[in-house]
Amino acid sequence: MIPERCGLDACRWCDRDDLVCRFCDGSGWWRPEKPQREAGGAIGWTRVDEPCRMCGGTGKEHDPLPVRG
Ligand SMILES: [Zn+2]
Ligand SMILES: [Zn+2]
Repeated sequence: MIPERCGLDACRWCDRDDLVCRFCDGSGWWRPEKPQREAGGAIGWTRVDEPCRMCGGTGKEHDPLPVRG
């Protein structure tokens, strides 16, 4: 379930849906890998699912790279 808006009032990025968040590809979720100490003391990596912080979980681009020209 992807929220329509990121939580900011009158967010200008949430008003448009032509740009897809480049961090989560529009899914609203990202899956970073986090280090986790395993039983033997070794450091392993575990994949976690988190709401995308860059777009507030909306899947809409919130900080597009400036277009020059
Ligand atoms: Zn927004
Ligand atoms: Zn995102």
